Amino acid sequence: MIRYVCKYTPIELFAGFGVSCKPLEAMASQYPDADRLGHANLCGFGKSVIQAVGDGDAEELVLVNCCDVMRRVADIARKSGKCRFLFLLDLPHEDIACSRSLFVREILRLKDAYTRYSGKEFSVERFLSAFVPEKKASGTYIGLVGARADASLAAFVSQKTGYPVENHTCLGNRFVPRPEGTGDAMWDAYAAALLAQIPCVRMDRNVGRSALYHDPQLAGVVYHAMKFCDFSQMECNEALASCSVPSIRIETDYTTQSEGQLATRLEAFRETLDKTKEPPMKIRDGFVAGIDSGSTSTDVVVMDQNQTIVASVILPTGRGARASGEEALGKALEEAGISRDQVARVVATGYGRDSFGDDQRITEISCHAKGAHFLDPSVRTVIDIGGQDSKAIRLDEAGGVVNFAMNDKCAAGTGRFLEMMARALDMDIDQMARMGDTANEKIVISSMCTVFAESEVVSLVAKNKDVGDIVYALDASVASKIAVLVGRVGLTEPVMLTGGVAKNPGVVHALERKLSVPLAISPYGATVRGHRSGIVRLGEMTGFPPWENFSKTAGKLFSFLPFVIIIRVLVAYGS
Ligand code: SF4
Ligand code: SF4
Repeated sequence: MIRYVCKYTPIELFAGFGVSCKPLEAMASQYPDADRLGHANLCGFGKSVIQAVGDGDAEELVLVNCCDVMRRVADIARKSGKCRFLFLLDLPHEDIACSRSLFVREILRLKDAYTRYSGKEFSVERFLSAFVPEKKASGTYIGLVGARADASLAAFVSQKTGYPVENHTCLGNRFVPRPEGTGDAMWDAYAAALLAQIPCVRMDRNVGRSALYHDPQLAGVVYHAMKFCDFSQMECNEALASCSVPSIRIETDYTTQSEGQLATRLEAFRETLDKTKEPPMKIRDGFVAGIDSGSTSTDVVVMDQNQTIVASVILPTGRGARASGEEALGKALEEAGISRDQVARVVATGYGRDSFGDDQRITEISCHAKGAHFLDPSVRTVIDIGGQDSKAIRLDEAGGVVNFAMNDKCAAGTGRFLEMMARALDMDIDQMARMGDTANEKIVISSMCTVFAESEVVSLVAKNKDVGDIVYALDASVASKIAVLVGRVGLTEPVMLTGGVAKNPGVVHALERKLSVPLAISPYGATVRGHRSGIVRLGEMTGFPPWENFSKTAGKLFSFLPFVIIIRVLVAYGS
């Protein structure tokens, strides 16, 4: 059984030898052999192949030399002695005449190598009967492009977006028509057909992929970028800019644990795809409640038909999302003096939103968009810096999400990063927020990684650097990380800043310097620039206490979450 990793592999050739082939691309949860044998920056897919070789699952293996990672993987596989047959296919980077003739030679070199290894005879009849007709899906679909995505990731994208997915990454949708002619003409046609497939991320010319982006059946594009895969990281922005349909970038490290991280992004993407499809919900009778089930606090707001807030409760999410949500809702109903039966709709957002059964769930992305629009309809970009994640969201005139980007698994650019750095500086987060608005000495924190940044901070302290200067540098580091997210969605003014970190003037000013735009922020934060009317309206509606008291109640990093809940309620009203 030949294992192969790439759609350009001439698998029909092996059928000519009477040998079957099977793709090798499944994700695993961890790659202990690869972590021991390869270097730290191998992409997750490269590690998965090393692991499969180590586990004895790839005794006969055909690889392609499409990148440095694959060459390293081939070296390690060869050295392991666990592959009886290992062939590294020299793959051209283009589909032009001379590349095709080089590829013919390569296919024939593979044929000779396998003949020598197996002693089997090649049959042209068997070869020609191995070609299968193209399977073309009908109806609208999501195109999954970029770095390799295995079947489980494609299925996850389909489940979360609600559309069938065509996987155009390394092994998806392989289609090679049966070559015409005999002898050299047949091999020429075979090489040409292999290279004429929809080009992968590794190919220099992506004309075929550009055509794909304008397919009338295409509902949206999900671009998969993989950690440590230079090709996908480099191509992504250009690819998404050429799409005429909604698109989103997701990033994984090619482990099965990646899926959980992607759920919010993909669900928010679905909401952007569906916004033109579904009429807004109208609830005109009874009260509505919004639950924001966050990782640290669970917040509930109840609103009446007039969109007046009648109760609001904030509790720690100590006992799990469902239990804390029910408790907070119970307390809010008590505060409002109403029963559960009088609540026409409960809607949930936040990390724990899936715990709330059949009630409507909406992602924090759409909530923030609606919220910002509610506060100030002129806002076109929302930056949210929360405790666990950061987002940049671009809005249209109606408050719909045009595009958004979130931080990946990494804590850099979030409240958590600041919290850890405050600990390294032996201060609390409030003390830190009062520093770092000016600097005497320019210090640069070069590491984006939270763990390495912490080491940098420790060594700066050991060198007796001024703590205010270190905080200034840390604020600038957060601003740089956020600027990358904003760059992905495209900065359009006016810009609103939300999230607990909006209370930190050092970060606010660092971000304003970095983006060269003023930021409108929460009335509970230290600075409000412009757009007061919308913000004051929220303040009047909520009746929340001023920032100082509020932060004590809600926890230091999650001060702006009620904003999200209110908007959840508004969403339920179809406002
Ligand atoms: S990136 Fe392209 S050449 Fe490399 S394995 Fe994937 S499909 Fe093959
Ligand atoms: S994901 Fe990127 S780096 Fe990894 S093997 Fe494929 S092309 Fe190479």
